Amino acid sequence: MKVYLDNNATTIVDPYVFEEMEPFFVQKYGNPNSLHGFASATHEPLKIAMEKIYAGINAPKEDSVVITSCATESNNWVLKSVYFEYILTGRKNHIIISEVEHPSVIATAKYLETLGCKVTYLPINHEGIIEARTLKDFITNKTALVSIMWVNNETGALFPVREIGDICAQKGVLFHTDAVQAIGKTPVDVQSFNVDYLTMSAHKFHGPKGVGALYMKKGRELTPLMHGGSQMGGLRSGTLNVAGIVGMGKAMEQAVDALGFEMSDIKDLRDRFEDELLKIPDTFVVTPREKRVPNTILISFRGIEGEAMLWDLNRAGIAASTGSACASEDLQSNPVMEAIGAEADLAHTAIRFSLSRYTTKEEIDYTILVVLEAVKRLRGISSSYAYAPEGHDSGLTKGH
Ligand code: PLP
Repeated sequence: MKVYLDNNATTIVDPYVFEEMEPFFVQKYGNPNSLHGFASATHEPLKIAMEKIYAGINAPKEDSVVITSCATESNNWVLKSVYFEYILTGRKNHIIISEVEHPSVIATAKYLETLGCKVTYLPINHEGIIEARTLKDFITNKTALVSIMWVNNETGALFPVREIGDICAQKGVLFHTDAVQAIGKTPVDVQSFNVDYLTMSAHKFHGPKGVGALYMKKGRELTPLMHGGSQMGGLRSGTLNVAGIVGMGKAMEQAVDALGFEMSDIKDLRDRFEDELLKIPDTFVVTPREKRVPNTILISFRGIEGEAMLWDLNRAGIAASTGSACASEDLQSNPVMEAIGAEADLAHTAIRFSLSRYTTKEEIDYTILVVLEAVKRLRGISSSYAYAPEGHDSGLTKGH
């Protein structure tokens, strides 16, 4: 049996999405900017797709949604644009992000530091969540931007974007949120939150890879990073990825339609899976379920290297993730586990299982059996587990 439980990394393209995209490769392949029938055949489908993306996040017409190549581009763009508009010009000099943002935010912030920008990295609490009130202490009259993700990709933790947005609005600071892991898993409505910029990526909600978007509230600015054309109102030049945009539109529509199912049926499946995993002694989950999106479990099995567990799972046809970058012989620990200050022997043992609306009960039943076997085998040969004291308190919440 093959089981795909790495949906926070990427998702299968929904067959209806694929079907809608297909004609734009071999039939309607015109460049939308050309002046002939091949071009005009793309105009209406593009318009419909954009309407679906706007509707998916409840963006009013006067706001902007700009298509990009991926969320990495959208995240880079917001931070670098703020650098050009506010920091290079000397109006402000400071941005705030969380210490567990996606690398596309953290690496960009670190790059901007080399150009003179000051960056504050907000800590997470023991549940893996940002505390909005701590933000107030760090905002100064030199702060240009706060960039905090809506949902953490490792734990599935929901961050308090409502409170953060309200604080930013009161203090007159721009707020960007990376909502990549939120779309299709929790309601995202830009009109009921104080959000200035919001990042999306189609391949995280059953759309194609290579297409993302950046939402921008009316009146905000974006400095183009790609020059050379009039596409996207001149904000983002480059021939439009027609099939990708059509696919993203359909995927957004499907994600919104399936949200109820994700939040009930997939949540139930995830919870049952988690209940079974937590019956294994010395297993720990960081973020309580009610503070998480419905599809994610980040779980530590004391005494078992994450990579060793992945190996056993992979041999049995199951895809999951450790969330850690594996650099040559160095096994790095999970960044969220590190940020909450988990002991080293737990930080290396985290495994992320992320479900989707395609995950079945049979797949989860099979995975539970494989995990039980793997834990038995790997703890049997683990020297660190043999020495772990019985009932040792990890400081993490056990079972929710
Ligand atoms: N932001 C978050 C929270 C993510 O989980 C990811 C992908 O893992 C990205 C950004 C980057 O997405 P993309 O692959 O579209 O660049």
